[in-house]
Amino acid sequence: MSDYVKLKNQFNIIAGPCAVESKEQIEKIASAVYKSGATVLRGGAFKLRSDVDSFMGLGKEGIDLLVSAGKSVNLPVLTEVTKISDLEFVKDVDILQIGTRNMQNYPLISETAKTGKIILLKRGFGCTLKEYLQSVEYIKKNGNDKIILCERGIRTFETSLRNTFDVSAIPLLKEKSDFLVYADPSHATGNSRYVKPIALSAVAAGCDGVEIEVHNNPSDALSDKEQALDLREFDTLVKQINSIRKTVEKYYE
Ligand code: PEP
Ligand code: MN
Repeated sequence: MSDYVKLKNQFNIIAGPCAVESKEQIEKIASAVYKSGATVLRGGAFKLRSDVDSFMGLGKEGIDLLVSAGKSVNLPVLTEVTKISDLEFVKDVDILQIGTRNMQNYPLISETAKTGKIILLKRGFGCTLKEYLQSVEYIKKNGNDKIILCERGIRTFETSLRNTFDVSAIPLLKEKSDFLVYADPSHATGNSRYVKPIALSAVAAGCDGVEIEVHNNPSDALSDKEQALDLREFDTLVKQINSIRKTVEKYYE
C-alpha cells in the first residue's frame, strides 16, 4: 500500500513543533505525540519568519533530527521546503509542506512535485480557493497527485486573531477536488487558547486531518510559542477530536 493510500484510509493528526530546536526537544515531543495518537510528526527546519532577527531553523541538521525522531517512534515525518535548494536534504522525509507564503511559488511547487513525495500545500493567506486550486494544477502537471490541501486561515478585516479560519473552505475544497483536505488551527489562530475550538469545528465540518503545533515547553519555544499546545493539552485535544469524529463520521459517508 502506498503511503498516500495509507494516509487516505485514516484520519491523520500531524503534530510537532513549529521548528526543530534540538535532539532532546524533538525526541521528547515525538515520543509524547506518538503516545497521544498523532499519526505524522512535523517539524520545521527552514523557517520563513517575518522578523528578520528571529530563529530561522536548524536547516539540514533539523531535518536529520526530525527524521531520526520519527524513526524512533515509527511515525512518518513532515517538513516545509521554502526554496528549491532545500529539496537536496529531504530524501528521508515522507511529506513535503509548501507553506502559505509560497502557495503561488510555481517553480518551487513544480520542483517539489517532481520528487514524487506526498505534498501538503497550504492555502495562501491572501488567496481565493480558485487561486489555490490553480496552484494544485502545477503539482498534477508535474506528475504528482499525492496531494493534501490545508486551510490555515486567511487575512480578512478582522484582526483579533492572527488569521481568520475559513471553515467553509473544507466542504468547498472537498467538493471541487479529489484531494485530502486538512485544517491547521494553530496558524489560523496564532493563540493556543483557540486551537481547540477551531480544530473541533474543522473536524465537525468534515476535514480529513489536522496539523497542530505542539511543544514540550511552549513558553520557551523559539518560534510560534503563543500558539503551541503543551503535551497535556495535545493529549486532551486528540481525545476530543476522536470523539467529534465518531459523532460526525456517519454524516460524511
Ligand atoms: C508552518 O506550518 O510551520 C507554517 C509556517 O505554516 P504556514 O505556512 O501556514 O504559516
Ligand atoms: Mn509555525
